[in-house]
Amino acid sequence: MTTQTSEPDLSLTQGDITKAQVDAIVNAANSELIGGGGVDGAIRRAGGDEIEQACGEIRRREGGCPTGKAVITPGGNLHAKYVIHTVGPVWEGGNSGEPELLASCYQESLRLAADNSIQSIAFPSISTGIYGYPIEKAAVVALTAVKDFIKENNVAPKKIQFVLFDEATHKHYMDALSAVFLKSETTH
Ligand code: ADP
Repeated sequence: MTTQTSEPDLSLTQGDITKAQVDAIVNAANSELIGGGGVDGAIRRAGGDEIEQACGEIRRREGGCPTGKAVITPGGNLHAKYVIHTVGPVWEGGNSGEPELLASCYQESLRLAADNSIQSIAFPSISTGIYGYPIEKAAVVALTAVKDFIKENNVAPKKIQFVLFDEATHKHYMDALSAVFLKSETTH
């Protein structure tokens, strides 16, 4: 099932992000940009060597990618032309800057997308797997970050999609979508 808003063109769908028919998919990477499990492993397996090599170059050149930041590589064998790798925070109880760092992941990814004229982008649920960020909280942070970016920037991808792997994650994002977007309608 896909849930959609028209303004912006933001949709939530359940599925496998490696299959997304978009210009760029976002990877929940680690700061070393070394292949991991979860969505990172799935993207690297589907995208192949070109992604590995590009991550290796960034690692050698810049030492990796700090938490809350994002880097871009080609998409290799994926349909997506690019992969934007962003590093989410590990959940440490919520008082270590986790919400700001998580919001930054979405906003830095959108900024990199805009800089590369990317028209459509798909996000997974960053930090809510191995990194342990509670899903109800992460969903609100994610959708608020996207909404704020669109409000504050003239240039953003036209189409923004969240591809959520499991039913429970999809449901939490649907609840957050109504909360975040309904709230803005009633307070303006
Ligand atoms: P993190 O380390 O940032 O927590 P994970 O990869 O462990 O990242 O998990 C992030 C989210 O990605 C989880 O909700 C997980 O179920 C989901 N996920 C795993 N594989 C895929 C996939 N192929 N497509 C979309 N989401 C995926």
